This record gives sequence, C-alpha cells and structure tokens, in this order.
Amino acid sequence: MPELPEVETTLRGIEPWLDQQVIDSVNVRNASLRWPIPPEVNDLTGLSIKRLWRRAKYLLLELSDQSHLIMHLGMSGMMRVVRPDEVYQKHDHFELVMENGYALRLNDPRRFGCVLWTDEPIESHQLLASLGPEPLSAGFDGQWLKQAAGKRTVAVKNLIMNNHVVVGVGNIYASEALFLAGIRPDRQAGRIALQRYQKLAATIKQVLELAIQAGGTTLRDFRRTDGQPGYFKQQLNVYGRADQSCLQCGKTIINITLGQRASYYCPGCQT
Ligand SMILES: [Zn+2]
Repeated sequence: MPELPEVETTLRGIEPWLDQQVIDSVNVRNASLRWPIPPEVNDLTGLSIKRLWRRAKYLLLELSDQSHLIMHLGMSGMMRVVRPDEVYQKHDHFELVMENGYALRLNDPRRFGCVLWTDEPIESHQLLASLGPEPLSAGFDGQWLKQAAGKRTVAVKNLIMNNHVVVGVGNIYASEALFLAGIRPDRQAGRIALQRYQKLAATIKQVLELAIQAGGTTLRDFRRTDGQPGYFKQQLNVYGRADQSCLQCGKTIINITLGQRASYYCPGCQT
C-alpha cells in the first residue's frame, strides 16, 4: 500500500511535468473508484495547474480557478507521466492530458483510490479538515505528542498511527520509529515522559525522511519507468522480522497484535 513517502515521491515525480501546465483534456475511463469520479472533472479543460502539493496521503492539484483535484492512491494506485498516444494499460482509470504533450495517468487495480474535485476551500474539505499535523512539519514534535497523549491508556503505537494526532505514520514506519526511540509499541500513551516523546517525534521524522530519500533516488527517469515509485526498501530493524535476532542486541524480535495490526518490537532495546 502506498504510504506517505511513496505519495511524496509520486508528487515529486509528477510535479515537473504538470506544474503551471494547461489541461488539454480529461479522460475518465472508469469512474468507479472508491467514490465516483465527479462529472465536473470534464469541465477542467483550459485551466492550468497552479500548484501541486500533498496533505497526508492526498495529492492536491490547485487549478487556476482556485478549485482543486484531490487524488488518493488507495491500496494499489500509482501514477505515471506518459505521452498521450501511449497505449493504455489495464486499470488506467483516469487521465489528465496537458498542452505540453504529456499525460498523467492513474492506474489502480483495486480501485480504492479516488479522484475528487471541489471548489470549496480545500482546508475545510471533509477529507482534510480533521487531519492532524504533517509529521515532517515543525508543528509536529514531542510536545505535541505528549499533549495528544494526555492521560490516554491507548497503546503508543496506536496513538502515532491515529490520523487525528499525526498523519502518514503507517504500520512499518510506526514500528521502526518506536524501535529507534527505544519505546515498546504497547506502552500506554499517557504514561510516557515528554523526553521520550521528543525522541519519538525525531525518529518518526527520521524514518519518513529516509524513505522519501530512498524513493527519490529511483525517480530520475520517472517518466520512462513503468510507474513503480520507489517503495520503502531501507533496512528494517523490527518490521516483518518476528523470531529473528535483533540487529542491535541479538534478542528475538516479538510480534504482537495492536489495533488489529501486526506490531514488532525488540524486548531488549524497547522498554
Ligand atoms: Zn534489540
């Protein structure tokens, strides 16, 4: 599933081909995504793309009439920039053709992704309004986590995976950040000291930045690739390593279930 680093990598990959460009045509080949692609997208011809950005895992295209396209990759989506005469691939559901001779295509076999359009203020859109801060922003730090934790008894891993607390910390990144911070994933959020939350906020930023860098390195030929963005391939310390030895201390990695998600930790390194 595309996580925040893959979405950021996708954004950086498509931006050079779309930024400030005029939309020549819009092709909806299959409107049945997670929500139907609204018919208004067919009226976007002639508008230009003023800005591309990301909020949580949503890709946002601000258009010259101040309206926005909101796109999400869902479980299996990916975007490619191609020449418009390139043969469509199976599961190419949506295409934006630009006047510069390039086209953005959304391919999504499982169709949990979305393409939406709104002319309302984007910050108050129902999908975005209640999201917590971006993990890589200055506003996200240990103080914020400590305050969000309050006296809550929820496991700290579930706290940092809660989109109202902070966006974009998926299962792999939560597990790895907790390992690097030395915190057990099942520790009660309300019983963790500020100093440990400061460490955790730093390690969350660290694992996400490393993943974005790893993705970025595969993006040089973005337009010519088969569209596979640079998925997270950095060394994992705990995630998926149940019953293997900890790379730091040699103890056996444990797998527990938290919030219905597999959660891995080292009993030697994490307390
Ligand atoms: Zn260890």
